[in-house]
Amino acid sequence: MSERSDPEHVWIFDTTLRDGEQSPGASMNLEDKIRIAQVLEQLGVDVIEAGFPIASPGDFEAVSAVAKTVQNAAVAGLCRCQSKDITRAWDALRFAKHPRIHVFLATSPIHREHKLRMDRQAVLKNAYEGVKLAAALCPDVEFSAEDASRTEPEFLAEVLSAVVEAGATTLNVPDTVGYAVPEQYAELIQYLKSHVRGIESARLSVHCHNDLGMAVANSLAAVRAGARQIECTINGIGERAGNASLEEVVMALRTRSDYFHLNTNIQTEHLHQASRLVSEVTGLEVQRNKAIVGRNAFAHEAGIHQHGVLQNAETYEIMRPQDVGVPSSQLVLGKHSGRHALQDWLNARNLHAEPQPFETFFQAFKCLADERKNLTDLDIEDLWETVSGSHQQRWALNSLHTSTSKDITTIALVVNTPEGQEAREAACGSNLTEALFQAFRRLAGLPLLLRNFQFRSWARNGTPQGEVRLEVQNAEHTFSAVFAHPDPAEATARALCRILNRIESQYQAQTLRATS
Ligand code: MN
Repeated sequence: MSERSDPEHVWIFDTTLRDGEQSPGASMNLEDKIRIAQVLEQLGVDVIEAGFPIASPGDFEAVSAVAKTVQNAAVAGLCRCQSKDITRAWDALRFAKHPRIHVFLATSPIHREHKLRMDRQAVLKNAYEGVKLAAALCPDVEFSAEDASRTEPEFLAEVLSAVVEAGATTLNVPDTVGYAVPEQYAELIQYLKSHVRGIESARLSVHCHNDLGMAVANSLAAVRAGARQIECTINGIGERAGNASLEEVVMALRTRSDYFHLNTNIQTEHLHQASRLVSEVTGLEVQRNKAIVGRNAFAHEAGIHQHGVLQNAETYEIMRPQDVGVPSSQLVLGKHSGRHALQDWLNARNLHAEPQPFETFFQAFKCLADERKNLTDLDIEDLWETVSGSHQQRWALNSLHTSTSKDITTIALVVNTPEGQEAREAACGSNLTEALFQAFRRLAGLPLLLRNFQFRSWARNGTPQGEVRLEVQNAEHTFSAVFAHPDPAEATARALCRILNRIESQYQAQTLRATS
């Protein structure tokens, strides 16, 4: 933790709820926004931008609810540089413990001419008056010079000097359109540090967009040059190509503290959780190879890498997965994996193989991995059971019939049970998943509670593909299973069989331990 007054402290201003919500298709409702705000507070962000109060009654409600919920972070509301926007923002923020009014006005020639139809003098006057009004309402005022990176530096310095005089405490220099490059942007920040009158009493901030993939690089160059607030979002969501990603900025400052010598207040072990929540709420999936929070970020498949990581994680990892809230490095078993990784996989499951069966298992594994792209633990478990001869009677789907009308889905299925019997069951529900769960609960006589369900479909070479991922709770344990099949009904039913088999194995292992 670093003190906010510390000159080496970089303020993290999160705008997931405002700029992030402006991502096409990412609207959030009030409850979602409050859940995200709570996670952001737990993360330790310094400022939460909760929305744009004048934009809609829903936005106003959300900003005001977040303002009342959040305790430690400042809560900001965005407004145009107009009195009705500013007073509306203040109405939403007034009950916050640490309110911040965030006023913006475009300063670049292209915006002045084509959007605002205002000359330099008019922009200057408008900025001064808007900030003056905001400062009369709220002690914490941020001013953003929209499209700052395409504004004439001397005019930008003039506008920022005027708003400092009017009472702005944070001066934001946005790269609104993602046009900046790191060295040039750093020069602009240095220029402003020496040309804005009264800059000692204000904090310089940056807000970078990722249109050319440089949002994080630009933000980091700016703090090297003296900016002390970075505006960013979880998973880098935001308008168009998005904003600088919070987790990348924070982990870069932390991992390379030898270079930056700067601190943030972020409790990085909550990053993974925050990323998952934002992805779940917005429906915007995180790309697999995304830095820090992508599923592959701490995964190793190549044999040489896996061997290295098993000996000492630092061989191929510059961060510890635990530091960002990922429980441990994940060794992905695939065709590039070697014997060490496979042995480790067995050890982790308390399974033992004599050298000869192990070699057979390894060869069978290589064949399977060549055939299929992604091997799941379950695929490998199935293989292990076949090779080691521990294959017992298991739950398996024999046939499935489904029928769906406007508001009811009925299913009928036949399964093989571990006792070697055939069992039939039928059920109905308001959707397929509900009906299948009904049927499987009755078949197994277990309380099975659905914790997470995802079905993904795509096409490969013109053929439809699909994959279901399930997380199911049974008593105090949670089980997950994946099954690839283009038909959601069949994929879900087969994944549920896998879940029952995992419950069965766990039960058998417990009984074994209890009797031995
Ligand atoms: Mn933006």
